This record gives sequence, C-alpha cells and structure tokens, in this order.
Amino acid sequence: VKAQGRDGVFMFNEDMAARVESRLEIERLLHFALPNDEISLDYQPQLDRAGRIVGVEALARWNNATLGAVAPAQFIPVAEQTGLIVELGKYILERAFMTLREWHEAGIELEQFSINISMRQFTHHDFEAQVRELVQRHLDAQLRSKLVFEITESIVAEDINRVIEIMQRLTATLGIRFSMDDFGTGYSSLSYLTRLPLDELKIDRAFVCTLGRQEEGPAMVATILNMADVLKLKIVAEGVETAQQLDFLMRHGCTVFQGYYYSAPLPKDRFVEFFRSRN
Ligand code: C2E
Ligand code: CA
Ligand code: CA
Ligand code: CA
Repeated sequence: VKAQGRDGVFMFNEDMAARVESRLEIERLLHFALPNDEISLDYQPQLDRAGRIVGVEALARWNNATLGAVAPAQFIPVAEQTGLIVELGKYILERAFMTLREWHEAGIELEQFSINISMRQFTHHDFEAQVRELVQRHLDAQLRSKLVFEITESIVAEDINRVIEIMQRLTATLGIRFSMDDFGTGYSSLSYLTRLPLDELKIDRAFVCTLGRQEEGPAMVATILNMADVLKLKIVAEGVETAQQLDFLMRHGCTVFQGYYYSAPLPKDRFVEFFRSRN
C-alpha cells in the first residue's frame, strides 16, 4: 500500500490502521489498568561522584494480560490525551509516597526521591489539593523535603505565572523541589526557564548518548553543565551507559548520575537489595 496518494494526500494504509487500532486498544484497556491493579512503579537509583546512592526516580510500569508490558512512552501520552493521567498520576504519587515512607522505616535514607509529573496533571485545577492531601496522609516534614517533582519544558506552553505560583506554594508549604526533565530537548527559551523556581536540571539521555560519538556532543554537554553552574542548579545526567560517558561527565563537574551503567529501573524489592549492596 502506498503511503502517499497522487495529490500528496496521505492515504490510509495497513500500517497506519494497525497503529490506530493499537492506540485505541491501549486507550480501552488503560481505563481498567487502575481498578485491575496493573500499574506499578520501578525505581532507578541516582548515584553521586563517590558511587553512593543518593536518590531515586520512580517510573511507571503497566503490565496488561493482553498487551503484556506496555512502555510508558506508549501509555503516558494516551493517559494525557484522555485525561486519565489525573487519576493515574494521583495513584503514582500515593504509591511513591508510601514507598518513600516504607524505605525510611527500613533504614534506607535517600537525599531525594523524584517523581515524574505530566503537564496535564500539573495544570489540573485539583493537582495542588491532591498533592497536599497525599503528602499530609503519608509523609512527615522530614520526608516531604526529599520530594522532587520532575516537570518538562512543555510547561512553558502553559500560563507561566500560574505555574510559578503553584511551584512556589508547593515548595514553601511542603518543601517539594522541582527538576527540569529532558533538559535541552524542548523549544523553550532560556529566559523562560530561568523564571521557574527550579532546583535541578536533568540532562537528557539524547545528549549523554552523543558523548564519545559525535563531534559536537561533548561541547553541548559541557555547555549545559556550565549553564547549570551559573544558574546554581543541581544537575543529574540521565541515560549514563558507559564508563567513558561517566568519565566525561565527572571531569566536567556533573554531580549525580543515573543510567544503565549503574542500574536499570528496578522493582521495589530489588532496589532495596541494590541499595544494601552499595551503601
Ligand atoms: P524520563 O522521565 O526521561 O525517564 C527516563 C527514561 O530513560 C526511563 O524510561 C528509563 O527507564 C530510561 N533509562 C534510564 N537509564 C537509561 C539508560 O542508561 N539507557 C537507556 N537507553 N534508557 C535509560 P521509561 O521508564 O520507559 O520511561 C519513559 C518516559 O515515560 C519517561 O522518561 C517519562 O517521560 C515517562 N514516564 C515514566 N513514568 C512516568 C510517570 O510515573 N509519570 C509520568 N507523567 N511520566 C512517566
Ligand atoms: Ca524523568
Ligand atoms: Ca528525562
Ligand atoms: Ca528523556
């Protein structure tokens, strides 16, 4: 089947049909994912320069009887488009908070505990109240101060003043910090970003990947690290897979590292084992 018709109009082909169908299938089954208890969280360690585990990022997992394991890159966008992300995000927050407390009680102390927040979730009118309620239910002041919410550059498409106010209130009243995820992949201007009350930048895996591969890769990463330094932001490198990448990042002053080089995201119990074996 030809992808393009005579007049340059895209024709519907089997491939597109299959994609639409799987998108619809994901959407249909995603509605039952929470009631059927199919959503869980994995935890990926973040290590400091000395190789100590200082933080963790919670990552959503969906295991469905029909579809098998569905990647977040597939179901999170569907959850965003359908609005399901509001319920799903709330569930993820609560599960993550419970894990943070459980680990604390088991003697596993971390400096920070990061959770991804989608824009549609963040800008929902009920988000702040939800966070407040869940935090009050599960976490004392000491544990609250470990929370980091990872947001993305798409936030700049929103009412920036409202976004800033919400961030400031969550920081002032609950001690929650904010990290700019996937930094460098969006289209936001630097001046916009500097207005946000951020604590941390995460260098996107796409940049870390280029280290040792492309000519301009290292220069770009060095520039981002420099900028974080000027803006007094903590920086986390994500997607660190090789000793060469780690070495480059260390020589350029990066302080926190996350990636397969150390560990893939792990189920809760395996994270505990990993922590005990290293710290
Ligand atoms: P992200 O926030 O940028 O998360 C990092 C992704 O990189 C994760 O993919 C992680 O498994 C993967 N990763 C970590 N280290 C390495 C590495 O060394 N090499 C490679 N190749 N990959 C690595 P994952 O878990 O599939 O998540 C994909 C995206 O889905 C996340 O990207 C995030 O945008 C979104 N996501 C995941 N969980 C949640 C969630 O609970 N809420 C929201 N809103 N979004 C989520
Ligand atoms: Ca993230
Ligand atoms: Ca990221
Ligand atoms: Ca990324």
